Amino acid sequence: MVTVFLGLASNADLDYSAALAAANQPPSTRDQVFVACGEHARKAGRRIREIVGAIDGVWDAHVRVYESVAVAPPHARPGGCILYNPVYMNFLMQRLLIHDGAVAEAMLYAIMAHEVGHELHGDFSASRRQVSSETKELQADRFAGYTLERLNIGIDSITPYYSLAGDEFNGGQTRTGNEHGVSMSRTEALKKGWERAQWNQPEDYQALLEDE
Ligand SMILES: [Zn+2]
Repeated sequence: MVTVFLGLASNADLDYSAALAAANQPPSTRDQVFVACGEHARKAGRRIREIVGAIDGVWDAHVRVYESVAVAPPHARPGGCILYNPVYMNFLMQRLLIHDGAVAEAMLYAIMAHEVGHELHGDFSASRRQVSSETKELQADRFAGYTLERLNIGIDSITPYYSLAGDEFNGGQTRTGNEHGVSMSRTEALKKGWERAQWNQPEDYQALLEDE
């Protein structure tokens, strides 16, 4: 079951209001809350730490992952943090009708790799200010595809879901309107990244701009 990955004990935990209430319990009854890259956060769950650790290993990145206190989509933050919320992730998987644990696991890798891509591409830096949100999203999608190939994780099982999930995670703290790539192009970007890795081409996200 999907829930196992994210540390929720059973199907009973999938009741949204109950899960939300649990997430909003005072810090004293939960793991310690601290501020990470400007957001209230907790230590990430073991499985997520393993996944981000594997992604880090591909790139020798030093991205930190935390559980966000807010029930919000996964996102990257200036300062080298990635935040996710297990309640949100479980409901995302449910909404996508993902019931296969292997597919859910691959989706987690893809989503977290996308967020690592924002960090490694320096998407919060001044030098990237002129790059459109849509381009940054597509470049992060390519990065995710590239990373999954390096980790020997196939993407065929997740492409139908990746296009649907595309609007559920992004690079900024807010989502406004239609700043993400069209869902099909996001899936295409994921595939393109995977293929570039397969052919041992560099990730080279700047040069890939001209491919569009
Ligand atoms: Zn993004």
